Amino acid sequence: MFRTTLLALSAALLLRVAASAQTIPTPKEHFGFNIGDDYQLATFTQTEAYVKKLAASPRTKLTVIGKTEEGRDQFMMIVTSPENHKKLARYQEISTKLARAEGLTEQQARAMAEEGKAVVWIDGGLHATETVGTHQLIETAYQLVSRNDPETMRILDNVVILLTHANPDGQELVSNWYMRNPTPEKRSLDNLPRLYEKYAGHDNNRDFYIMNLKESQNIGRQLFVDWIPQIMYNHHQRGPAGSVLAGPPYRDPFNYVFDPLMITGIDAVGAAMYNRLNVENKPGYTRLNGSVFSTWYNGGLRTTTHFHNMIGLLTEIVGGPTPENIPLIPSRLIPNGNTPNPVTPQRWKFRQSIDYSVSLNYAVLDYAARQHDQLLYNIYRMGKNSIERGSQDYWTLSPKRVESINELYQADQKKATSTNATPTSSTTTPGSTTAPGSTTAISDQAPAPRGEGVPVKYFTAVLKDSSLRDPRGYIIPSNQTDWPTAVKFVNALIKTGIQVQQATADFSVAGKTYPLGSYVVKLDQAFRPHVLDMFEPQDHPNDFQYPGGPPIRPYDAAGWTLAYQMNVDFDRLLTAFDGPFKKLPYGELQTPTSKMSGSGAGYVLNSQINNSFIAVNDLLKAGIDVYRMPTGSGKVAAGSFYVPTSAKAKSILDASGMVVTSTGKRPGSAKKVTPMRIGLWDTYGGSMASGWVRWLMEQYHYPAQLVYAQDIDAGNLKKKYDVIVFVTRAIPAVGNARGENEYGGAATRGPKPEEIPADYRPWLGRITADKSVPQLRQFMEAGGQVVTIGTSTNLAYHLDLPVRNALVDMGPNGQERPLNNEKYFIPGSILRVALDSTQQATWGMPTLTDVYFDSSPVFKLAPEAIAKGLVKPLMWFPNDKPLRSGWAWGQAYLRDGVTAFMAPVGAGKLYAFGPEITFRAQAHGTFKLLFNQLYGLTE
Ligand SMILES: [Zn+2]
Repeated sequence: MFRTTLLALSAALLLRVAASAQTIPTPKEHFGFNIGDDYQLATFTQTEAYVKKLAASPRTKLTVIGKTEEGRDQFMMIVTSPENHKKLARYQEISTKLARAEGLTEQQARAMAEEGKAVVWIDGGLHATETVGTHQLIETAYQLVSRNDPETMRILDNVVILLTHANPDGQELVSNWYMRNPTPEKRSLDNLPRLYEKYAGHDNNRDFYIMNLKESQNIGRQLFVDWIPQIMYNHHQRGPAGSVLAGPPYRDPFNYVFDPLMITGIDAVGAAMYNRLNVENKPGYTRLNGSVFSTWYNGGLRTTTHFHNMIGLLTEIVGGPTPENIPLIPSRLIPNGNTPNPVTPQRWKFRQSIDYSVSLNYAVLDYAARQHDQLLYNIYRMGKNSIERGSQDYWTLSPKRVESINELYQADQKKATSTNATPTSSTTTPGSTTAPGSTTAISDQAPAPRGEGVPVKYFTAVLKDSSLRDPRGYIIPSNQTDWPTAVKFVNALIKTGIQVQQATADFSVAGKTYPLGSYVVKLDQAFRPHVLDMFEPQDHPNDFQYPGGPPIRPYDAAGWTLAYQMNVDFDRLLTAFDGPFKKLPYGELQTPTSKMSGSGAGYVLNSQINNSFIAVNDLLKAGIDVYRMPTGSGKVAAGSFYVPTSAKAKSILDASGMVVTSTGKRPGSAKKVTPMRIGLWDTYGGSMASGWVRWLMEQYHYPAQLVYAQDIDAGNLKKKYDVIVFVTRAIPAVGNARGENEYGGAATRGPKPEEIPADYRPWLGRITADKSVPQLRQFMEAGGQVVTIGTSTNLAYHLDLPVRNALVDMGPNGQERPLNNEKYFIPGSILRVALDSTQQATWGMPTLTDVYFDSSPVFKLAPEAIAKGLVKPLMWFPNDKPLRSGWAWGQAYLRDGVTAFMAPVGAGKLYAFGPEITFRAQAHGTFKLLFNQLYGLTE
């Protein structure tokens, strides 16, 4: 019986193999065109149908890693030899165990590296208008499934390949948009009506340390929890003009928290990539300073992997379905270290970009096939390095530390010249103790080598100062006020594969008692660079084109410390500690528990807790009365909510994830909350900043309506809205009457109405000084409220409010002019501001808080205007050193500058927030500055 079954089974298997070889269609047979044919794009629907056909091959296993924001299935196709597929679970286990490097001996690690297969991730389509991305993925899948050459067979034998679609919704939107024109030569990607990721568009590649979006969560689960590949390859477009593509290695600065082996691992795989192109006579690869891509930032699909010891690769290639030209850029014609093999000007076809991409994928896969044991061992080595660094006193070098070595030395030199003493005798070395790992080969008192260098004692003074050690871990106390937000932060760590522990009982560390349920994140873990990055400031170097010259703009943010952005309370422990901690399973998300206490006449919802606003919106929706208490109640903050006790209210609060107390009767000063009709500005083509706020409104249960320039210009706004929110880049600067260049993309160029489907025409247009601003003024005069964020605070200037730009100096003819970049430059960074938290606009906020600042507006308010109540400051810079994380060149100019204010306009109000208070839906610490403005209060 057993025997016959087995025979029948293997016969069936043989049949399946034979059948699949015949039934796998070429792309042309399936799509009706070859991948890379001119003027042809495949939709996601067609692509999904194709990969289902490829799934018939014994080399593949098709998996769905989750639903997208628009409800599509996001696929990942696992490709490897049929033999390897049988042991897939074992190879997956080896990959994750070596990456985490927990509890393995050197011998075990070597043996597992020998036994395992390299795991390589290749994705496509994250940025949907970069059409080479999805199409190279289709072509690569087909070639890996159908080719039988020795190289392909070696790859299949030694590598497990994870081919992942990064943005199905975007491909469907973009391909249908392009293909809608029946005349191929007239097809165009221009003027896409909306964002190609439902909420974030291009910012879907800025979401990976927090993973707000479903696609990021699906991808993150595979990358950081389930597989932890040694190499990941993220395809983008496009490189600098005059090249075909930009790829690894990348320009500086690289982040000083990285394991160096990760960076040199990128070098090694990068070399395999451009080497192969040269073998195949494919010129035009540029690297390093040949392009703008660096490794400083965390949060990109590629860059978050760098903080997890993965070799994260990015290429940015030219090309698309409509043929184009490689332009003549004379400065790029001479070979150099950045571009060893320049391309010459020529006509460029989609198929060439597909061929390049397949070659690059094969270069990576061939490297992985040949070096699979080394790749597996190396990721283990990096994880082990992290565990070792986190298990002892360790000092991470950062630019400011190095600067302070120089400062200390120069101060002594100066003193020595003035007192005529020798520099080495004039300084004590604070804290220069017996740190492990200190430089034992060179004596502290060793003089500098002749003509160069600084005596080593200055190194010791700064870099072995025990108070400057890296922490051994962090404690996130469960008795902090906004606990549900702290849990969201912990979940962001868990989603990126961080090992988190939780206290099973009350405990004490360093003289402080912490309650049961507190979370503990230790630094003796493989992904230590990521943990440091989420809790500690980023110390961006002062990066200039030349000394005294203009700054080199970071590729994205300079500082982003998530714990600061979310205003999470945590303690840094500089010495080893332990307690009744249990390790949470990797990837297991946490839920804060709701608790009701007391039996008074009403519930109190603390205005300091973000989830209170979700609960309030649910209560209002259920028709339950909610009140706000302007002076708080007992221990709770001003602006906290009061809800009369009822079974219905209790059932809503039971699901809030908060500790809700009850109190006696409603305070006489309490005011009734009325829901507002909320308008959120958006535009044709979509605004990412607006999309993130739309996401936020949905998460916090605010029913918001999108409002476009045409709606504003049509007037009668008070009939439809109580409050309108303008995110950054909605409202043009004064003097820019037509709103040009304020918002990039389609909104600026704008298609002609007849060029687009009728459904989208109401979205066209932009906010203007002559048509829109008078309507907004009327709206406010009639009692409406307008909330402006970032550059949309321009509205204050249009309304001639008594505010001025604070970031100016005197020009040669005694006239104020904006500060130039050589004096003042603050790209995306975290700064600390002071607040007046007695104002309704700032209820629930602390008196000092961190804000995300990105070259944001700062104002000077006329003192007499403040005295007359014409304008009310809400947030300002209390000192000349507000930088918390990132880069703030010339930050002293910020001192006393006002970053947020409220101004009455008729019966209504204008709120102006310079900093990005809703930044990419990450800045939980400042969400309340928006939420507070979304309720009406009546007596
Ligand atoms: Zn891109």
